[in-house]
Formats: sequence, structure tokens, C-alpha cells
Amino acid sequence: MENIDWKNLSFGYVKTSANVRCAWKGGAWGEVEETDSEFINLHMAATCLHYGQEAFEGLKAYRGKDGKIRVFRWEENARRLNQSAREILMPEVPEKLFFEMMEKVIQLNHAYVPPCESGATLYIRPLLIGSSAEVGVKPAKEYLFLMFVTPVGPYFKEGFSPVDIIIDRTSDRAAPLGTGHVKVGGNYAASLRSLEKAHKNNCSSVLFLDAKEKRYIDECGPANFFGIRDNTYVTPDSASILPSITNMSLIELAKDFGMKVERRKIEVGELSSFSEAGACGTAAVITPIRKIIDEENGKVYEFGKDGKPGLISTKLYDRLRAIPYGEEEDKFSWTQVIEV
Ligand SMILES: *Cc1c(COP(=O)(O)O)cnc(C)c1O
Repeated sequence: MENIDWKNLSFGYVKTSANVRCAWKGGAWGEVEETDSEFINLHMAATCLHYGQEAFEGLKAYRGKDGKIRVFRWEENARRLNQSAREILMPEVPEKLFFEMMEKVIQLNHAYVPPCESGATLYIRPLLIGSSAEVGVKPAKEYLFLMFVTPVGPYFKEGFSPVDIIIDRTSDRAAPLGTGHVKVGGNYAASLRSLEKAHKNNCSSVLFLDAKEKRYIDECGPANFFGIRDNTYVTPDSASILPSITNMSLIELAKDFGMKVERRKIEVGELSSFSEAGACGTAAVITPIRKIIDEENGKVYEFGKDGKPGLISTKLYDRLRAIPYGEEEDKFSWTQVIEV
């Protein structure tokens, strides 16, 4: 392996030693295979290519100061993958198979789990695709489940420093009864134009509103949204947002800190009542928000003081990171050590 500059990694793809794969054929999962190839040999009429029959996941392995490698709440990712699979008529991946493949791919690539002090982590990407040929719109008869890993730095190059976000009413990522609540590829293709618009306006991401009324906050690009008001953690309730495992964990930590938690519809105008706001997800953990720009209404909502992350966001961020690094007692049993 080449020398990796762990401290300056971005959220990008780095080739590692191997990935693992398992095929579903004739109604059953086959043997797990390891390969060093970064390519898949796929039929050109595979349903994943034409009709978006694919789902993915994203989770991380952390190297602690004690040298141990821990993964964070992988059972939740396994469960969510199966929710996505059911939604678009793909076979479910048994939890045991998910774990076996995850353990193997980490073991094969343990040299790529970044050192503790670098702030980088090993990102694990499970992918489930319809692999057999169909020309009409129908589910595939065969599937491929694979997992690769790649060492990553922060998702937003700013790391844990506040970013600007823009509201875009000209495009939706998901319809109310669509597939916004599952991690399937089509949602992300649908979000690209909005993200590009954000970048053109010097913003890191876009805040999606509910597609029907454009009145309530949905989520923040590929991350959930939360706001802090007094001692309350507020996060949107909507049928078209992806249930973030990071958000679920922050809710539990907020309760543990003695905060109130509200999961409900949040009107855009309510943004002015939050003292802090953030985006959360595996990739970024917490990205504090400095400004939300609502161009169409000529409004700018600002959070925090002097462009610094707020106290509560910082406290949540520190605690959430300390657990998978093994620095804080894992009283919720969120982590699992992977022996290599
Ligand atoms: C993956 C994802 C998230 C974050 O979920 P985590 O489980 O916290 O990583 C949030 N929103 C969208 C749209 C996502 O795809």
C-alpha cells in the first residue's frame, strides 16, 4: 500500500486491498467472495443501471487510542438496508451475512483504518444491486451485494466548522409517498441539481423542504437537520426524509444530557427561533450551520456566535465521537469491536 497522508484525506475514494461480494441467485444467497478487483462484471441490461434498482448504506469503523477497531451501530444499517430492499422489491440481506461481510472487509483492509489521532476513519459502503437483465420495468431475478471500504477525512472540507446552506424551492429530492425514506440511488441523482445550485452560491449544501407544501423543513442534502432552542433538540418529522442513525443517536444523547427532544414538523420561519442548527449524518457526524439562505423570500437565518459552532452542538459532537473511539463509556452498546 502507498503512504497515505491520513491528516489530509478528503471524503473521496482511495483504493484498498480488497472488497467482498455475495450473489443472490435462484432465491438464495451464495458464498462470500473476496476480490482485489475494483470492477464488477455486469450485464448491460441490469435493472440497477436502467431502473435504479439499487440501495446502499454508509457506516464507519474507528481506530481508538487503544488501537482497537470499532464499528458504530452496524445493526441499524443492516436493518435500514433491508427496509430499502423491501421498498424496491430486492431480496433482504440476512443480518448475519451483513456482519460476516463487514467483518471480513475490515479484516482484509485493517491497514487502511486510519490512526486515531488523524481524525480520519474507515468508511464502509455496502451496496445491493439488481444484476440480471430485464428490458421491461420489473424487478431483477438476480442480485449482487458487495461491500467496499475507503479511508475518509471530513465530508465537508471545513470539518467541524460552520457552513452555509441554501433553500431551493425549484427542485425536490423525493415525493411525499416516494422513496425519500430509503437509501436508494434515485434520490441522490434527483438531488444533484440542487447541490450544484448550492455550490454555485458558495453554500455547502441545500435544505430541502417538504415537496407538497414547501412549508416545512425536510433535510439537509444527504444529512438530517436539527435545531436547538433553549434546552430543546428539534428535528423534522416527515415521511420523505431518510431516518438518520446519527440523528437517532443524537436524540438519545440529547435526552441523556437532560434536554427535551421534539420530532415534529418545522416551518421554515421557525428557523429564526433556533440558537443553533446543524446537519447530521455518518459522513459529517455534525456539521454546524452558520447561515441558511432563503433567497426567494429574501431572508437569511443565522446561528451561533461569531461564526463558531454553538455550545450544545459541540457537546453533542464531542460525545458522539468519543463513543466509537472508545474514549467514553459505551453505555448504549452502540459499538462493536472488530478483531483483526
Ligand atoms: C445517509 C443519509 C443520511 C444520514 O444517515 P446516517 O445514518 O446518519 O448516516 C441523511 N439523509 C440522507 C438523505 C442520507 O442518504
